[in-house]
Amino acid sequence: MKTNTVYIGLGSNIKLPMLQIKNAIIALAELPGTRVTGDSGYFKSKPMGPKDQPDYVNAVAEIVTVMTAIELLKHCQAIELQQGRTKSRHWGERSIDLDMLLYADEQIETDELTVPHPGVCLRDFVYMPLLKLNPGINVPGKGLLSDIVKDAEKAADKKYKTDYQCQFAGNIE
Ligand code: AMP
Repeated sequence: MKTNTVYIGLGSNIKLPMLQIKNAIIALAELPGTRVTGDSGYFKSKPMGPKDQPDYVNAVAEIVTVMTAIELLKHCQAIELQQGRTKSRHWGERSIDLDMLLYADEQIETDELTVPHPGVCLRDFVYMPLLKLNPGINVPGKGLLSDIVKDAEKAADKKYKTDYQCQFAGNIE
């Protein structure tokens, strides 16, 4: 059966964020026809949305799965529900968020799924863990992620880099 390498972005900022991320990766490993083949470790970042919420913990997991992208999306949403994810305000606090960043070398544009995820090349809390996990990663339709983010990094000012840029915060044990 055909297997696909997929990168899942995880984020949490309430209810013990590191534990939420660790539990979600364990849940990914338990999905049918799926193995977790790597993770980025924890990264800490400032909230992208409203500022009156706790800082975030983010990570990226690499998985190999026989599932289709849409099947996997449904399972990711089930993991969010299992971990008590509720929708509050836009970009507001959440116990866990799972985003499908890349699915093999596919480009998908449907009502339910946009892959590559639009945040991959734009958000440091997505591309930093992804590059740590796989420095040579290619973004289908765009090119080498390391080349793409060089421009984004150049554009960010010094204050942004020191005050806001996400930081590695330890291995997921
Ligand atoms: P969020 O509130 O960030 O968890 O967004 C969830 C919504 O985004 C769902 O309705 C998904 O169908 C949609 N979506 C589109 N593309 C993706 C993707 N690559 N990964 C996860 N959800 C996605």
